[in-house]
Amino acid sequence: STVYLNGDYLAAADAKISPMDRGFLFGDGIYEVIPAYQGKMLGFNAHIERMNNGLNEIEIKLGYSTDKWREICQQLCEKNHGDNLGIYLHVSRGADTKRAHAYPTDITPTVFAYVFEIPPQPVSDIEHATTYTVSLEQDKRWQRCHIKSTALLGNVIHYQQGAAAGNKETILYNRIDEITEASSSNVFIVKEGVISTPPLDNQILPGITRWLILNILHSHSDFKVQQRVISKTELLDADEVWITSATKEVGAVVKVNGKLVGDGKPGKVWQQVQSLFTKHKFDY
Ligand code: PLP
Repeated sequence: STVYLNGDYLAAADAKISPMDRGFLFGDGIYEVIPAYQGKMLGFNAHIERMNNGLNEIEIKLGYSTDKWREICQQLCEKNHGDNLGIYLHVSRGADTKRAHAYPTDITPTVFAYVFEIPPQPVSDIEHATTYTVSLEQDKRWQRCHIKSTALLGNVIHYQQGAAAGNKETILYNRIDEITEASSSNVFIVKEGVISTPPLDNQILPGITRWLILNILHSHSDFKVQQRVISKTELLDADEVWITSATKEVGAVVKVNGKLVGDGKPGKVWQQVQSLFTKHKFDY
């Protein structure tokens, strides 16, 4: 495949990064994943804005414009095959000459991007939807989960907990039994027709899919929607549970720790919300 590295498009096998890169040594970098279907990108501006927020927060000065990112993404989609692609963008602080924790001020950030195949766009029909069984575990990551850091070991370990139990995700709760998010998704619940999701803070990533869903529901539905603290008990007692991410969109959870959610099928509210999402997701 063709990848982008520091201004060049080249074969993946020819892309070389220094072992002194702080992305490699410290996980000192920010990343994004943007879906593209037949070359059409989903939530592009919001993804770039989130990446810029992350770069600002950790003081990596890059200066790529949104247009420059768009051009890189479009080039990668054109140079590679596939109707359904995830575009991975990665900016690390760059390669240092010595080992030191302090941010070096005189190095150039490393910019890497490539595309990988993703499943086709999710469908909103109950019989054919991809469904998710999940584990429920205590969130043991750091307290800056709003930064989309390339240091993903905490998330990887949590994902693996679910995988080891035969599940496809792991939903997390904090030390006082409040739901935060999942290892690579945000969480929503539905109870008696009311849709709820945890509020944005340092405990969760501000998901672009979460943001799109909230906007679409606000503009195109009468659903009551709340951003509020959700307890572990409420999640276990919910009529519907969803995990959301750029590639899953609204993912219906059918089992939590082996216990069925509702009747064990995607719910009625899920069906309405995923179909609204399908209809309006490219509006933003
Ligand atoms: N939370 C975490 C920890 C993630 O890694 C992701 C992204 O995959 C999400 C939430 C969902 O974010 P988005 O909707 O922007 O894909």
